[in-house]
Amino acid sequence: MDFLSKKARGITPYTAGEQLRGKTYVKLNTNENPYPPSPRVMETLARMNPDDLRRYPRPDAGRLREALAAREGVSPENIFCGNGSDEVLALSFPAFFDGDGAGACFADITYSFYEVFAAFFGVPVKIVPLMPDFTLALDAMLAADCQGYYIANPNAPTGIGIARAEMERFVASVPDRIVIADEAYMDFFGESLAPLTKKYANLLVIKTFSKSYSLAGMRCGYAVGDSALIAGLMRMKDCFNSYPVDAVAEAACVAAVQDEDYHARTVKSIVSERSRVRAELLNMGFTVPESKANFLFAGRASRSGEEIYQRLKDAGVLVRFWDKPVLRDFVRITVGTPAENDALLAQLHQILS
Ligand SMILES: *Cc1c(COP(=O)(O)O)cnc(C)c1O
Repeated sequence: MDFLSKKARGITPYTAGEQLRGKTYVKLNTNENPYPPSPRVMETLARMNPDDLRRYPRPDAGRLREALAAREGVSPENIFCGNGSDEVLALSFPAFFDGDGAGACFADITYSFYEVFAAFFGVPVKIVPLMPDFTLALDAMLAADCQGYYIANPNAPTGIGIARAEMERFVASVPDRIVIADEAYMDFFGESLAPLTKKYANLLVIKTFSKSYSLAGMRCGYAVGDSALIAGLMRMKDCFNSYPVDAVAEAACVAAVQDEDYHARTVKSIVSERSRVRAELLNMGFTVPESKANFLFAGRASRSGEEIYQRLKDAGVLVRFWDKPVLRDFVRITVGTPAENDALLAQLHQILS
């Protein structure tokens, strides 16, 4: 007797990057921030009030909503907070897409969770291949019959970013379709569409604390958009989990948002390392699209992606590899501290020599 549903038996879940314990790797495989969270976050955690743990948290993470509204220049009713931006993305499928509708449109090479969510929520998909230079085929996406779009900007795993003006033209040209901009890496680019959510009722921007704020372990993400879109996400949340942001995460994220100086400094150092590492990879003969994120997509050198991944792993450096068409020629490398990046580059020199 198999007790699993047809869905549970048939679906292919998302595969997260390896989180190996024991051996100490130079861990450049899951786009975590190499710097610790703001010291203010750690002070806030140490000072947690036991009552905040004894009681249920605010169902809408109200204090965090207010802090984020201030950061994004919108009102609290334009902010939705969830248990990681993955959860916000998940809830967006039932909130904005019908099972018998024209479907969700996204690129063939992008965050692979979109396809998993679509299957899980029974939403049809329209998949549009990237251009040969890995840029998004925005015209082909416009031409696709669909109910809305998922656009990771900067895109994963290529790191390529689309400027705000170009994204605005896209959003403006599809007023009757929702555009969901997944801005998980936007702080490393600085072209967020969040301010445009006041102008476009069809635009939802989704961000996370996992990357630029060094809080992947806290599991917190949020959406910015018109209050009608936010209300739709709230409805879905309250059909599933009333309290997705726990009291600890809410307090930590408020403290992180309020330390804008620290955030800016760590982002700046990652951005500067990104260009140094990319220049070195290009020198070694790798093809590396210009990245606007905290990682580099490097490949097509004299070794396959898999060989580079495996030999780096043997040498104690973890990067991400996918055994899929196009992707298998590349590895995705998170930008680490200068010392971590030096360790990576030294190993790559050895592997290629
Ligand atoms: C990391 C990532 C996310 C989600 O991260 P959370 O930790 O769930 O907030 C979403 N989209 C993209 C493209 C990502 O790379």
